[in-house]
Amino acid sequence: MKATEIPERMSSRGRRLTRQRVLVAEALASAKRALSAQELYERIKTSHPTLGRATVYRALEAQVQDGMASRFERDGHVSAYIACDAEHHHHLVCTRCQRVLDLDETVVAPLLSSVGRRHEFQVDHAALDFYGLCRRCRRKRP
Ligand SMILES: [Zn+2]
Ligand SMILES: [Zn+2]
Repeated sequence: MKATEIPERMSSRGRRLTRQRVLVAEALASAKRALSAQELYERIKTSHPTLGRATVYRALEAQVQDGMASRFERDGHVSAYIACDAEHHHHLVCTRCQRVLDLDETVVAPLLSSVGRRHEFQVDHAALDFYGLCRRCRRKRP
């Protein structure tokens, strides 16, 4: 997600545009990896010490609701967040470096149609997250 798109996407969903919300969205978009609310808070804190942890958490949840970010589950029931493009897509989540690669609908379409045939179920919407090791981390594996 481009930083320049953030204010527009935020206000297009009727969300009140505050400096703090934009700040959190920009920090998440520039991270390029999944971060927990705590990790993002610590990144922002150095440059914006007055921003509270609860504000960061609420801003992240608002972004998920508005489709600007996705939430992943980490071990220990910790949520991690990634900034998302507006186009529908799926995710490959690296559990080691926390990078997230987007997977577009064309890769998933054959799976959805086979689910449909096998279960006589019409899939209208699917959001899939695949967890594993990215190419970089696989190379580094001892
Ligand atoms: Zn995404
Ligand atoms: Zn990785």
